[in-house]
Amino acid sequence: MVIFKKEKDIREYIELERKKGRTIGFVPTMGALHNGHISLVALCRERGDMSVCSVFVNPTQFNDKSDLVNYPRTEAADIELLTDAGCDVLFMPDADEVYPNGADAVRAYDFGKLETLLEGAKRPGHFRGVGQVVGRLLDIVEPNRLYMGRKDYQQCLIVKDLLRQSGRTNTEMVMCPTVREADGLAMSSRNRRLTEPQRALAALLYQCLVSIQAKQASTPFAVVQKECNDLMVAKGIEPDYVELAVADTLDPLTEYDASVPMVALIAARVGAVRLIDNLLLQ
Ligand code: AMP
Repeated sequence: MVIFKKEKDIREYIELERKKGRTIGFVPTMGALHNGHISLVALCRERGDMSVCSVFVNPTQFNDKSDLVNYPRTEAADIELLTDAGCDVLFMPDADEVYPNGADAVRAYDFGKLETLLEGAKRPGHFRGVGQVVGRLLDIVEPNRLYMGRKDYQQCLIVKDLLRQSGRTNTEMVMCPTVREADGLAMSSRNRRLTEPQRALAALLYQCLVSIQAKQASTPFAVVQKECNDLMVAKGIEPDYVELAVADTLDPLTEYDASVPMVALIAARVGAVRLIDNLLLQ
């Protein structure tokens, strides 16, 4: 695996590989890597793309500064995991390299309604920051395919919109399945901040999603939603939202609607750690 810290160097390398006829697959991450991230690299390789992974904890997408300070950083372990996974290229820039003229100099996209819902409502400015960093990284890597996890479902829709707004018709977004622990908890870099009892409780998020799916033919959504909220509170988890939405747009649904693809989304605080998850309803 080749590691680059400078935009100029990675650009040159990718350009040479492109000239040799290689297609480029890109996996942007914030590090503290786990098997969820590695599954994206694996998919990228399966498709025959040269795998380019980035590790950059983007300050502009953290509306909560303590979340930024506490975000886990495990550089050496990340390099080892990516090497073992057969990743071709790792980009690990400093903030000065990503924002040489300050973050304000980078285009901020307006995602309209999509950035005001769910995570957008709970984390004001978050998706503007995501748009900035992804837009900037796409300018550097210019991938044929962009591999992103369905775990961050709203982020996938935001980035799809970014591809559309920026006219990047040569970059295809590949939405990859969520990788889970044995008890169903979605893998996340934040999970490592959970204490053992908190970690045991955290699987409740996925159990709620499964119950929303299982009860769609039998129970009004509002009833299931209340059950989920009550159950979490009873166990000491602080729910942020339990919602049902149209999968393509995230338009909120107050009732199950079998005529459209639906997604259930959940966010909750387990101790000081805020977790999110979602499930496409079958
Ligand atoms: P992050 O480092 O958390 O910003 O995530 C980087 C990429 O990995 C994003 O596209 C995430 O959606 C994806 N990702 C994170 N966790 C998982 C998971 N459990 N399964 C699949 N993809 C994931």
